[in-house]
Amino acid sequence: MMVLPGGILRAGQRHQDCRLAAPNGRVALALTDSLVATSSHPLWVSQTLVVILDELAGEAPCPADVEALCVADRQWLAIQWHLHTAEQPERPAWFSADCQACTARYDFSPRWQDVPLKPAAESYPYADVKLSLGQARFRVPNGLLQQQLAQTDRQDTRRCIAEALWVSLDGQPPPVHGDRDLSEADLDAIESELEAVSPELGLTLATRCPECGSEQVVTIDPYSGLASPPHDLLADIHCLASHYHWSEDAILDLPDSRRRHYLKLIDRDLGQHGQGGH
Ligand SMILES: [Zn+2]
Repeated sequence: MMVLPGGILRAGQRHQDCRLAAPNGRVALALTDSLVATSSHPLWVSQTLVVILDELAGEAPCPADVEALCVADRQWLAIQWHLHTAEQPERPAWFSADCQACTARYDFSPRWQDVPLKPAAESYPYADVKLSLGQARFRVPNGLLQQQLAQTDRQDTRRCIAEALWVSLDGQPPPVHGDRDLSEADLDAIESELEAVSPELGLTLATRCPECGSEQVVTIDPYSGLASPPHDLLADIHCLASHYHWSEDAILDLPDSRRRHYLKLIDRDLGQHGQGGH
């Protein structure tokens, strides 16, 4: 059982417990297929979270549950999946960046384990904010908001976010858009209170360009590599099917560790016969 940085509400109670699925080919294939089929990145993340989570707050998660997860929870789960499925989780991940000073492309290798986490505040998932209109409550940004933003063409993103996250004003439902407008100062206050309440992962790193030595601030994408290239998995299936004559279904159901083990055995046998590697 793992503990989410934020968690979801069920009947007013905050639940942070979750459990990841056992990695196998079928899960990997589902992640790749949804990447191809989905229209927006946040929607794809929601679909992958449904696939990689066996349990969220004691139940198999539905789309609404993973949409209700705050942004840091979603990122954190993607990172836990990396660590859960990597053959050698202690090894660093490789990223590339283009130097802003000399344009050289260089590599850097953070470790997912080392990504710092700012915990959620006590009042999570709500932030209470004193506005020019009265005392208001907002909930922290979650997957549903990210999905909505990916579909909207409204230019005033800050206002759009505040309106979408608004829970109440002086204990009553919030006013309808355009009725009583939020001032710029209100928007500032909402933004900073939501930031204070939300958990946050430190995905921004200081790196140094090896060519010109200038310091570069880079952001790492927690969702990178969540879907492995399909040809890797298909090559595994092909190799195992040719050697053992197992069905595709049977191979997809093998736990990742067992699949890797059989591939190593095939490699070893081929090596002994002087036919090169798999
Ligand atoms: Zn440089």
